[in-house]
Amino acid sequence: MAIIKLQKGTKDILPNDMTVWHFMEEKANEIFSKYGAKEIRTPIFEATELFARGVGDTTDIVNKEMYTFEKSERSLTLRPENTAGVVRSFIENGMHRLSAPVKLWYKGPMFRYERPQAGRQRQFHQVGVEVFGIKQATADAEVILMAVNYLKALGLNDLSVELNSLGCPQCREVFKTKLKEVLKPYLPQMCPDCQSRYEKNPLRLLDCKVPECNEIYVKPEIQAVIQSDFICNDCSEHFEELKSYLNELGVNYSINKLLVRGLDYYNRTVFEIKSNNLGSQNAVCGGGRYDSLVKNLGGEDTPAIGFAMGMERLASLLGEKNDTKTTTFVVSNNPLEAIKLTEEVRANGISCEFDLTNKKFVKQLEKASKVAKFALILGEDEIAQNKVTIKNLETSEQKIVNRTEIFANL
Ligand code: ATP
Ligand code: MG
Repeated sequence: MAIIKLQKGTKDILPNDMTVWHFMEEKANEIFSKYGAKEIRTPIFEATELFARGVGDTTDIVNKEMYTFEKSERSLTLRPENTAGVVRSFIENGMHRLSAPVKLWYKGPMFRYERPQAGRQRQFHQVGVEVFGIKQATADAEVILMAVNYLKALGLNDLSVELNSLGCPQCREVFKTKLKEVLKPYLPQMCPDCQSRYEKNPLRLLDCKVPECNEIYVKPEIQAVIQSDFICNDCSEHFEELKSYLNELGVNYSINKLLVRGLDYYNRTVFEIKSNNLGSQNAVCGGGRYDSLVKNLGGEDTPAIGFAMGMERLASLLGEKNDTKTTTFVVSNNPLEAIKLTEEVRANGISCEFDLTNKKFVKQLEKASKVAKFALILGEDEIAQNKVTIKNLETSEQKIVNRTEIFANL
């Protein structure tokens, strides 16, 4: 019979990959908890309208990439990102009544119907943080520190932080008008996506990856507009304050005026963290401030800022950590004694296996050296004397110890 294959753009995370995935998940819990963030898990499907309103219907995500289906005449969508879901939950659970800041973090699968390629899947995973209730730049600094320190804790160093300010809806309007003015003569040369972005969301033009469009955006008169300081005094003060925190804290960053981010809801601070060791899909983290989203989704007016990281991209930077060996393996031809010792070792918090098929002693030792770091040998003599021979399977050193001394010798 024909075998049923994995769907395009999806991947199994196999037992050998798990060391890396557990590492990423455990570090997320450890680092984000230090900042007072609590984990939240929201459903992987939500009302389609949540994403249309929450991510924005001029975005690629909503226009092209959603997995949408109908059930009982409801339009549902597999979440393409998790900010909208977290905001929905924040509102529905009245979290604005909690004392600010409310800091939440999440991890889990996201779904986007994209062309699969290296670093781009249709089901992928993100780990992210959202901080609600603080409009000051201290929150921006703290959120960027959470991202940077998480990546550091993973041991990832060759990364660069890019920063930009998109201003507020008022000052951005002035910028959009200027941008449209200067780009108008080039409209016929732009890709079809940019032609429609021109009307709907001209900022997104700067995010286009089509080479012909990029050639237009490097022209001097267009660069002059892009590089101009269009943001108003309040937005500028906020940005300067953030930059001074980052400078003082030794966070290296560069300003990228082309950084606009794919989502509609951002205002003021946006940032991305890129790796110098990934190919073209080199962004590992994207984030920004979204002060109007909670209100737009029907909640109390609540400023917020957050980020999301692609876990597959992090995993590929971390490479293989094939530390799947169990710590100990009991070698014995007495299955009852073997299972008793195995359970005793496990009860002491150390991983342990034994040969469930009771093969010959030599075969058991061979197996132990493949799967474990130490063999705990229980021969007839050891059993009679209530002792164990501990063999270090990497160095082949061995010694006989009392049962009570095993743990001091591992
Ligand atoms: P890109 O410009 O690469 O499409 P994006 O702006 O769509 O990125 P975000 O929505 O900001 O990405 O998501 C945050 C992070 O999630 C990205 O930086 C990336 O690491 C990861 N990511 C996004 N889409 C995918 C995907 N299809 N497959 C794997 N990882 C992804
Ligand atoms: Mg994308």
